[in-house]
Amino acid sequence: MSSDARPDLLSMTPTDLRGALAAHFSGRGQPRYRTGQVERWLYERLAASTDEMTDLPEAERTALGRAFRIAEPVAQTVQRSADGTVKHLWRLEDGALVESVLIPTSRRLTLCISSQAGCAMGCTFCATGWGGFDRQLTAGEIVGQYRASRRWADENGYGAISNIVYMGMGEPLANRKAVMPSLTILNEGYEVGARRITVSTVGVVPGILELAARPEQFRLALSLHAPETELRRQLVPLEKRHALPELMEALEAFDAAGGKRITFEYTMIRGVNDDPALIARLAELARRVQAFVNLIPFNPIPYRDWRPSTPERIAHFARELEEMGVSVAVRETRGRDIDAACGQLRGHTLVQVARASGDPAPDPVPADFA
Ligand code: SAH
Ligand code: SF4
Repeated sequence: MSSDARPDLLSMTPTDLRGALAAHFSGRGQPRYRTGQVERWLYERLAASTDEMTDLPEAERTALGRAFRIAEPVAQTVQRSADGTVKHLWRLEDGALVESVLIPTSRRLTLCISSQAGCAMGCTFCATGWGGFDRQLTAGEIVGQYRASRRWADENGYGAISNIVYMGMGEPLANRKAVMPSLTILNEGYEVGARRITVSTVGVVPGILELAARPEQFRLALSLHAPETELRRQLVPLEKRHALPELMEALEAFDAAGGKRITFEYTMIRGVNDDPALIARLAELARRVQAFVNLIPFNPIPYRDWRPSTPERIAHFARELEEMGVSVAVRETRGRDIDAACGQLRGHTLVQVARASGDPAPDPVPADFA
């Protein structure tokens, strides 16, 4: 992280920000309305520096910049896919790299953000997991991806970001210290509706309970991938710590908290977790917590020679689940040509590094599910 001792304005919740600014300006004998001015610059006009705050006297801009910093990530690369998906690689203050993805559809513009540089969970089907853990992001670095992406979308005719999903690099509920305030900042500060924000987790039970206890209706995506403990352990090492029965109890608490939607993410890997015998069990779990099921064709990664389930098998799962009373969707893979699809973030760079170091990682399996 940064050796810069100035507090980062982007990491503060609106309440803390107001407090810090009020103290700063009162110490300088400035009127109270200065606080509101700075708030507007940050939340409405997305100022990336105090120099932009032109309705503050110049001396105040300088003093503010000396007291606080605005640590927004800087775009290292931008890649645009044939289908309109855009991947940003962001460089943080200490040089750490994280990715975010903009996904336009006819009705929405969804931003997928990272919560950690790397991930320590080691899920066997995920490129980020294979890359290991680098460090936690701060709340400001999470929010900063939103600010910078929003500005980019605006300048490039993508329109307004309608939804945010914490489905980039990292496990958000293993970084609650930053993720919890980042939710508050996006919701209260930038006014992104709670129901338009989805936190995706592989099953960090204490984090699910903490989210359940919050008054806002943030959505939860639970990366299930297998409806049985034995099978799930092979895909998600965290299953050893928080096994399905405990996880389901936490989800019941989340569901019981009212008005909160749960989605099950189920990455379909051929011959691994797509046996039709699993469908009934999956339906049972989904019905217990009124979960919507998202079936995701596995995106091949360089570390395993797994393939996605066939389109027929995925359609069969979808049909059967529906017949069992479960709402289901098959998620379309987006941005594959720029490695922006689920689980592929950071994979590319690592493969390149491996090749450059004379340790050739296996070639990615050709994508046969388009
Ligand atoms: N750590 C969180 C959020 C980031 S992963 C989580 O696991 O939920 C975002 C989603 O991408 C998860 O549902 C994850 O299971 C899925 N995913 C990871 N690798 C994938 C792959 N190779 N193919 C398809 N989906 C994948
Ligand atoms: Fe981490 Fe999610 Fe990938 Fe698992 S699937 S390694 S939790 S990013």
